[in-house]
Amino acid sequence: MTDQPLARYCVFGNPIGHSKSPAIHAQFARQTGEAIRYDALLAPLDGFAASVQAFIAAGGMGANVTVPFKEEAFRLCSAHSPRALLAGAVNTLSFTDGKIFGDNTDGAGLVRDLQCNLQTPLTGRRILLLGAGGAARGALGPLLETQPALLCLANRTAAKATGLAQQFTALGPIRGCGFTALAGEAFDVVINATAASLSGEVPPLPDGIFAADALAYDMMYGEGDTPFLAEARRRGVRHLADGLGMLVEQAAEAFFVWRGVRPQTQPVRDALRNA
Ligand code: NDP
Repeated sequence: MTDQPLARYCVFGNPIGHSKSPAIHAQFARQTGEAIRYDALLAPLDGFAASVQAFIAAGGMGANVTVPFKEEAFRLCSAHSPRALLAGAVNTLSFTDGKIFGDNTDGAGLVRDLQCNLQTPLTGRRILLLGAGGAARGALGPLLETQPALLCLANRTAAKATGLAQQFTALGPIRGCGFTALAGEAFDVVINATAASLSGEVPPLPDGIFAADALAYDMMYGEGDTPFLAEARRRGVRHLADGLGMLVEQAAEAFFVWRGVRPQTQPVRDALRNA
């Protein structure tokens, strides 16, 4: 590290106490020699924009945004990256010349974790994405870019999935439906982007949904199997992964957006797993 003043970044959320982002970015900074400080800041539910402005006034150079502010962050930006425009949500803000630029690194983080870390090919494969909330929305563009044979979006509220899929049809083979319409189908990669695991639930998936050698991936992470991964294991799936890798990869992508340097993610992932 040099003795230049620390460039300030943060993550805004509510709640935010649980965030692993400060630890991740501190490790990226040590690894790359970038002189940054990264804090977790609680924004009031009705005070996100004011919190961002206060951080900019205090010299902040960029910020990550997490639940529940990603859509509000999108509206706050004066310019967006193409992938943020596609997602309709922003998780990475950059502040330059009094302007707020919005990006979305969640989908890129997911695809990088799948392809690079887990060595899971996506091109030509049948992918099932469960959920039609913010996380799913951010993943659709980057997943379609990998040119799967089919990207099927299934959601508890079927109309949300069909509506969302419709918006992405120009980008590749995508279809939206409810869970029951999945009967008789099998997928090579099944990604859980629902919030069901948070309440200990599992989306009701028909038998046979996992193809032979399928990967079951839960965007949620934690100690041991999430409820979705436990169910996949019960059904005989051997390749299982939670969303910790995605978390670290989306952070690395944000770090790259801000600093122009791509940190190594494996040591950070290993440290978090062992913590
Ligand atoms: P949202 O609240 O935007 O979306 C929630 C989605 O989950 C909706 O599609 C909703 O369906 C569905 N859902 C909620 N409860 C159930 C249930 N009991 N059964 C079936 N479906 C259900 O959440 P996000 O998209 O922001 O987050 C989704 C998950 O992804 C969370 O677990 C979050 O922690 C994780 N995540 C992980 C990241 C990472 O880096 N690893 C990054 C971002 C998110 P409906 O439309 O019918 O209400």
